[in-house]
Amino acid sequence: MGVALDGRGALRASAHLGPHGARDRAGLSAAHRLDERALAGLGVNPFAGAHTVLFVHAHPDDETLSSGGLILWLVERGVRVHLLTATRGERGEVVPALRDRAGGDRAALTGIRIDELARAARALGITDARYLGEPPARAEDLPPRRYLDSGMRWITPTVAGPVDDAPVDALTRAPEAEVAADVLAYVQHVAPDLVISYDDQGGYGHPDHRFIRAAALAASRTAGVPFVELVEPDAAGAFVVDSSDRLGAVKDALRAHATQLTVDGGDVVHSGGQREPIRTAVGVRLVP
Ligand SMILES: [Zn+2]
Repeated sequence: MGVALDGRGALRASAHLGPHGARDRAGLSAAHRLDERALAGLGVNPFAGAHTVLFVHAHPDDETLSSGGLILWLVERGVRVHLLTATRGERGEVVPALRDRAGGDRAALTGIRIDELARAARALGITDARYLGEPPARAEDLPPRRYLDSGMRWITPTVAGPVDDAPVDALTRAPEAEVAADVLAYVQHVAPDLVISYDDQGGYGHPDHRFIRAAALAASRTAGVPFVELVEPDAAGAFVVDSSDRLGAVKDALRAHATQLTVDGGDVVHSGGQREPIRTAVGVRLVP
């Protein structure tokens, strides 16, 4: 059924973007429409008819690294994009050139990362960006709290796992039900058509990614909102958004995260020196 619901379904639905539509669908070029059909691949477009979506991420920079091109694609289509970030990246490393300025003082680094995420969100055209644990992303009967970055270590060169010294306020040490209730509060506040987060491996295994994915899935189920996971473009059933023509805008958003990474040509270089190509295609899949 994937092919039957490809770009044409998306185009029909997109014509109803309504008051939030930033752009008249009919105003897009035929080439653009063909492009969109070609991109649909074999997966069903879960965004057909969506007016508002909510991305749930773990740390500042994840929104851009794993879904920046997709967010730009959605915003271009008049979709309102909300972002909920669980932590402020308190334990993430700092790029070598900025370590003297931002590496030693965790409170200062936290403030810098809040600012960086705000700038990235503006660059991506995000409607509203919030942190988990603070209203409106906090269960009504609970006082505000901050969930801290749990940290990670590499188990293999590409798979992350938990550390032994996650702080007591770490996201992964919080009760799952409390985290899910906070996500639910924001889901109910935003009333999105879709909730989007990582796959069940948290992308590359970061414990915070896996934890917030589980909470986002639970909250979306409770709210009755479909859940979409970010997957590799070659994953079975993936709907793929090619963002290669948005590479410049993705780079602008990436550059906002100056303490976490640098952009070098078509690559992103992480604080630890790991280099990888900037994603130019984002896969998504509806979780049944
Ligand atoms: Zn992350």
